[in-house]
Amino acid sequence: MTTAVVYVPALDHTKSGHPENQGRIKQILPFLEQTGVLADVCLLEPEAATIPQLRRVHAPTLIERIREVTVTGGGLLDHGDTYATPQSFDLARLAAGATMTAVDAILTGQAKNGFALVRPPGHHAEYGRISGFCLFNNVAAAARQAQAVHGVKRILILDFDVHHGNGTQDIFYDDDSVMFISAHLFLPRMFYPGTGSFEELGNGFGHGYTVNVPLMPNVGDDGYGRILTELVYPLARQFKPELILVSAGYDAHWQDPLAMAGLSLRGYAHISRLLVELANELANGRILFVLEGGYQVQALSYGILNSFYALTGQDHIHDPIGPMPQAEQDISHLLHQLKRHHLIY
Ligand SMILES: [Zn+2]
Repeated sequence: MTTAVVYVPALDHTKSGHPENQGRIKQILPFLEQTGVLADVCLLEPEAATIPQLRRVHAPTLIERIREVTVTGGGLLDHGDTYATPQSFDLARLAAGATMTAVDAILTGQAKNGFALVRPPGHHAEYGRISGFCLFNNVAAAARQAQAVHGVKRILILDFDVHHGNGTQDIFYDDDSVMFISAHLFLPRMFYPGTGSFEELGNGFGHGYTVNVPLMPNVGDDGYGRILTELVYPLARQFKPELILVSAGYDAHWQDPLAMAGLSLRGYAHISRLLVELANELANGRILFVLEGGYQVQALSYGILNSFYALTGQDHIHDPIGPMPQAEQDISHLLHQLKRHHLIY
């Protein structure tokens, strides 16, 4: 069984001097090809998301706002720095649609697992609010596609982007069919988006199905590995997902200009492997990585490569950058608190 890849570089959705620009994944396919990691993967032709597909996760007003700013020549979509160009509506629909194309391939047995190499990213896009360089929520659209078309009942979304996945949390906050776990840097009023405390647990039927792991700076490889084995593993084993989706952000790398979470490329390789093993154990191997952030192009490219090694079952790790020079922070206390909070013994 093979690994499915969809690729939407969205070259015309770009802004000079902006961290989320077309340079991020413009060269990723030739780079991956050079390493030989793509030998056994199947590259799928993406299809743009339809309006009814987008309506599964977004308010009509949000979809219309992006369309309107796009057709009137582009501009800012929020009070921050989330931009649209004259091509953004179509390209964002393509990014969301491509992610659904990949999920279709996995759920029809055409592929075992996959990677959606797409932009613009999606995990900050809430049901009715655009923010954080995100237009449509790609990973949420893929989850709803899995449920609506393929009858999947339980989906785990694991978000290891350094920023809290507030958009994904918002969309599934009342929902017990999608467990959302986000590990992110949490420094209220200092670090975007400021949400994601461990008291945010979900609402109504969804209570307990939102799990936030708020981190201090410089957690590093050991801490991230422990989050997977000591928290994500037991929660996932209880929940028994049929599909795992990963909001894969590579901005937790210690060299990323937007953050300071302290992961190395070796650390990314390790957590990617742990997630693939978890999918093999619980979900018949069905796991889809969906690209979110990552703003240092070398760390991003090698981070993606190491995740591909994990998805394709190859025993390689490439880390030309090396470990964080600072000491890693011990997260034993935080893990202890979270385990008590989520009744893991
Ligand atoms: Zn991010």
